[in-house]
Amino acid sequence: MIIPFNELATVVHNHRSTIQAAISRVLDSAWYVLGPEVEGFENDFAAYCGANYAVGVGNGTDALEIAMRAAGVSAGSEVITVANAGGYTSMACAAIGASPVYCEIDPKTKLMDVELVPALITHRTKAIITTHLFGMVFDVDRLRSALGERCEVPIIEDCAQAHGAFLNERRVGSLGDLAAFSFYPTKNLGALGDGGAITTSSEDFAQTIRSLRQYGWKDRYDVRREGGRNSRLDELQAAILRVLLPHLDQQNQRRREIVATYNSTLLDSLRIPHRFHHGDNVGHLFVVEHPERDRLRKTLQEHGISTAVHFPIPDYHQHVVSTRFRHSKLPITDQSCKEILSLPCHPFLTALQIAYICRTLNKII
Ligand SMILES: *Cc1c(COP(=O)(O)O)cnc(C)c1O
Repeated sequence: MIIPFNELATVVHNHRSTIQAAISRVLDSAWYVLGPEVEGFENDFAAYCGANYAVGVGNGTDALEIAMRAAGVSAGSEVITVANAGGYTSMACAAIGASPVYCEIDPKTKLMDVELVPALITHRTKAIITTHLFGMVFDVDRLRSALGERCEVPIIEDCAQAHGAFLNERRVGSLGDLAAFSFYPTKNLGALGDGGAITTSSEDFAQTIRSLRQYGWKDRYDVRREGGRNSRLDELQAAILRVLLPHLDQQNQRRREIVATYNSTLLDSLRIPHRFHHGDNVGHLFVVEHPERDRLRKTLQEHGISTAVHFPIPDYHQHVVSTRFRHSKLPITDQSCKEILSLPCHPFLTALQIAYICRTLNKII
């Protein structure tokens, strides 16, 4: 049995006529950047997330950078984040000239260890970026209470792996002060190209973000804000996202079921972060840990099962990351990056395929 890691062709196959109608609408309008489709999607997406505003931008990394700038992060600021979430926040910090301060992760869930954050705060801390990694919701409320009411450092959610997930009754994107989303095609809500958005319930933040995504303009050609960029969601992608958003909840439900099946079928000798996580989990990735990760990966491939590693290199070991940040000592992060393995986990996996993956993996561990 051949099992690919993703099945993007199925997304287009399932929605071909509505996607084509949306594309035609944009072609007929001859309006390609920041027009009615982007505005329509921003309204739909804000309402979906339970935030007052959504602002479309070029991609998820830009969303992180622009959200940080809006929060007041500038050159020399410190930003608390984790080192196992793919490096996007570190890159966004580098673009600003801010310093990432890496927090160790919880050994069980691999999410930021809430208890360790307060000790990392200094007078230079201008934001905390929390990632809902692999689709597992990070408990932003617990972080807020750990920080105490007097702490005014803005919390920015990285929602690129958890569109539509809940913390109690509220969705990600409405939990922090700001939230960054990516609509890269493989995400739970994916466009057919690059795209991103920032959600917030603050009118001030929303205004700043709208200005920063378009050169720092107040009005056309009148540059009033430093750190402005050109980072806009285009009309075609926004029109496509409006077609796909109404199906997100159903797809997430399928991902939750797949996570539950993996959790209950895979043997205990695999360490599985998802088993230790008690909140909502929209299964962006299903990740297991094993000391012989590379052997498992190779053997699964021989059995036709594609896997991936998210992510193999902690941010502070990346070659391009300034040596200033290399001093971090994060043994749990280091070990996890060596042992994690992502199994196929997309809404079009069949029960037969999941059973085959579990049977094969259980046999070789
Ligand atoms: C994909 C991803 C991003 C970046 O999104 P792009 O649109 O590819 O720039 C940021 N954070 C996390 C956790 C991601 O998975």
